[in-house]
Amino acid sequence: MSEVIGAGKVASIHFTLRTSGQEIDSTGSGEPMLYLHGAQNIVPGLEAALEGKAAGDSVQASVGPEQGYGPRQDVPPMRVPRDQFPPDFQVTVGMPIGGEDADGNVIPFWITAVDDDSIVVDPNHPLAGQTLDFDVSIVAVRDATADEMAHGHPHGPGGAHH
Ligand code: ZN
Repeated sequence: MSEVIGAGKVASIHFTLRTSGQEIDSTGSGEPMLYLHGAQNIVPGLEAALEGKAAGDSVQASVGPEQGYGPRQDVPPMRVPRDQFPPDFQVTVGMPIGGEDADGNVIPFWITAVDDDSIVVDPNHPLAGQTLDFDVSIVAVRDATADEMAHGHPHGPGGAHH
């Protein structure tokens, strides 16, 4: 019996992501991507579409914002002086960072621009409000190791190295 994708499984997949027909991301001819099912490694709508699938299956999934990166919030990006970040802080456009609201709740922000003096952060994920069209082919499915379950992500080629 072949393994099917479900909680506690690591799947390796090739995928192409498009929004409005435009390719956003793809594993292309490179290595497949690994993810741990049930650990929020991928957006909920894609995870749901892959549940129960096996190696060799192809899946097309159109994932709305609610099951993707969320609706776009009507909150403008903020410019934060660079000296509010640690000097050794590596800043990359597109990178998520955690902020705090007035009640101390952690809220995610994404870095949308960087210049010499400041960093622009946006509470919207770059793909918020968009419908995500995924083309996925499943390469392999296996049980997660105890370490992977504890860390919440896959290890080995295509996963985290540490
Ligand atoms: Zn790990």
